[in-house]
Amino acid sequence: MGAGYDLELINLTKKYGDTLAVDRINYKFKAGSYVCLLGPSGCGKSSTLRMIAGHETLTDGSVVLDGFDVSTLAPAKRGTAMMFQSYALFPHLSVRDNVAFSLRMKGVDKPTRHAKANALLELVDMTSFAERFPEQLSGGQQQRVALARALITEPKVLLLDEPLSALDPFLRIRMRSELKRLQRELGITFIHVTHGQDEALALGDELVVMNNAVIEQAGTARDVWSAPKTEFVARFMGGHNVISLDGGKVALRSDEVRLDKNGLAATVTSVEYQGGHVALTTQTDSGEEVLALVPETDFYASPKNPGDAVNLAWDEGRLHRLLT
Ligand code: ADP
Ligand code: MG
Repeated sequence: MGAGYDLELINLTKKYGDTLAVDRINYKFKAGSYVCLLGPSGCGKSSTLRMIAGHETLTDGSVVLDGFDVSTLAPAKRGTAMMFQSYALFPHLSVRDNVAFSLRMKGVDKPTRHAKANALLELVDMTSFAERFPEQLSGGQQQRVALARALITEPKVLLLDEPLSALDPFLRIRMRSELKRLQRELGITFIHVTHGQDEALALGDELVVMNNAVIEQAGTARDVWSAPKTEFVARFMGGHNVISLDGGKVALRSDEVRLDKNGLAATVTSVEYQGGHVALTTQTDSGEEVLALVPETDFYASPKNPGDAVNLAWDEGRLHRLLT
């Protein structure tokens, strides 16, 4: 394992009976980075995370953390910790005792584990709720407790499986910036599973896009979004048109399609005002749908309606040829 890498997956494979959930994944996670593991439902994200955490056995391959093969170690012995989607707090324990739970299992004395739990409650801004029980907390507060409970083991890698999906949209956006802040403060690796591309773009230093049990593309958030390598990634990440040109397929950002005097002939099929820009859905003469996001001032200089003929243009250099 090269220097600077915390966690490495080698040929990681999971089969459930005949279902191949994870198919020989290889990946090195950079130490101290915020990584989003992204992909549609059923592509193998949770299975991958659970194998890293030790909550699922590996069918094949290995999980290597800081140079040690941890593939067969119990979850608590790996240096990883997992925050579950459901938070899984113990209803009969106070917030402080929930956070201190794993230390109690390790036989740490009460004053020590309470002091540590208090420090973590402080970190997640939950000090004043230490005596409460989980049912007396809102969803967002329960989540902070679950975070503190996972972090008390001082993991090298924190694994989060769709941690924001149970929150309402407003709270989701607030909590995601808190997760990012926590990760920066702690300097450990976060691996955050999500099926939402907005969430992944907002949080991830690095994105790992999965599809059908394999990694389809990985890289910085900006690279993955702006230079998708496959049709799947272009469509899944959004913001791109996939167009057939010269016998191949290309991706073209919707915000880089202009209406011009010359260009690909198309007919406007719908017009949607979206504030800063107007979304024009068009159909080319060969029957392909192309979305153009036109800045609102440009649009209103020459408004279009459904049925209007337009010409679509773009800079050649902005086309990304896709692998098939
Ligand atoms: P994701 O988290 O990306 O939605 P999962 O890792 O949960 O995907 O699932 C990947 C595939 O493995 C799916 O086809 C799913 O139905 C299957 N699967 C997941 N967990 C189990 C299980 N415990 N038993 C059988 N099949 C499972
Ligand atoms: Mg899942």
